[in-house]
Amino acid sequence: MDMIYLDHAAATPVDKRVLGAMEPYFTEEFFNPSSPYLPAKKVASDYESAKAVIAHAIGAKASDLVITAGATEANNLAFTAISIVDGSCRRLLPRSALAGDPLRRHHPPTILYLETEHDSVRRVAEALGGEAIKVLPNGVIDLKDLKAKITDETEMISVALVNNELGTIQPMAEIAEIIREVKLDRMKRGIKTQLLLHSDASQALNLLEINVARMGIDLMTLNSAKIYGPKGVGALYVSHDVRLRPLTVGGGQENGLRSGTENVTGVIGFAKAVELAKEHLNGNRKKYASFRKILLDELQGYELVNKKHVLDNFVVLCYNGIDAERLIFLLEEKGVYVATGAACAASKGVRSHVLRAIGLTESQIAGSLRISLGETNTEEQMHEVAKIINEVVSAERGRINE
Ligand code: PLP
Repeated sequence: MDMIYLDHAAATPVDKRVLGAMEPYFTEEFFNPSSPYLPAKKVASDYESAKAVIAHAIGAKASDLVITAGATEANNLAFTAISIVDGSCRRLLPRSALAGDPLRRHHPPTILYLETEHDSVRRVAEALGGEAIKVLPNGVIDLKDLKAKITDETEMISVALVNNELGTIQPMAEIAEIIREVKLDRMKRGIKTQLLLHSDASQALNLLEINVARMGIDLMTLNSAKIYGPKGVGALYVSHDVRLRPLTVGGGQENGLRSGTENVTGVIGFAKAVELAKEHLNGNRKKYASFRKILLDELQGYELVNKKHVLDNFVVLCYNGIDAERLIFLLEEKGVYVATGAACAASKGVRSHVLRAIGLTESQIAGSLRISLGETNTEEQMHEVAKIINEVVSAERGRINE
């Protein structure tokens, strides 16, 4: 039985060409980029060139990137940009430690984050006392809510470019325009508080044209694992005027923000994956649009959850009254791999905060499946999958109604 893999938002296989590019750096070119001899200097130079390729894909320079061990780390690092009080980050204290703090009343949240963010943003922002910005029922940011929640103390706003459960594309240009107006107003009133825009682009890099300057973004998270590169490699783009606290301290690599011997193989692979993604960006978008259409035309008895403003490789279906966890199990028996939502939440049995945020009922959430298409898929598979899902759903409905 051939596998039909429909969970590319969770993981993508490393492209053979990516693997090929990485291989020499495991063996012949294994040198530490910081070593003084020539072969090591070549590795250091190749590493910088690879960083430049990744940076160029978002309109930035190699020196603007901090390489991290994935997007979670990059997201966590981004939040060190908020104010540091008395040499320590006051807001890193647990909520209980702040409970009796008389200053607390005078410190409204300095962070705003979209309520549908990945846990690696949401949980940090929550721990730092951040406030969630609402989404509309279509998953797009509620700009009115954003405007209402920005105060003179707001220092950072975090909005993912593409949501990892729905594929919703957020209107970064409109968000940046609101921020620009707020900054202008603050300047007129002599308020010096910074206002930074962070965006997690983990799910966007291979399918959207990105330019950080044009989008008004100060901090951007990138992820190799979602674009057919190796896992455990990511990057944080940091605009030159933003100050961060180091994630690790030691040898001073990555502009002193993340010490530790460089992950040369990982970054070489990440760069190759970026190169390939950019080459096929338009072709892939067209391909996924046609695949999505086949699924929506041939599948039966579902409600489409992610209708508009989405990347076409995300197809979220709701089979109300059916347990999607059971569907996943039944589909796996037929060689079809799908998900209910984010892999990390699913493994903990946690219901999706994203589907709740867009107003789905608990029963609708329980019946929702996420299909995320990718390069392992073919048109033929789409017809095949539609047939298999229809059969499994129909059998399941029959069983329930018995
Ligand atoms: N952000 C988004 C939007 C994601 O989809 C993911 C991965 O699922 C992450 C962050 C975390 O990435 P990683 O597990 O590679 O650190």
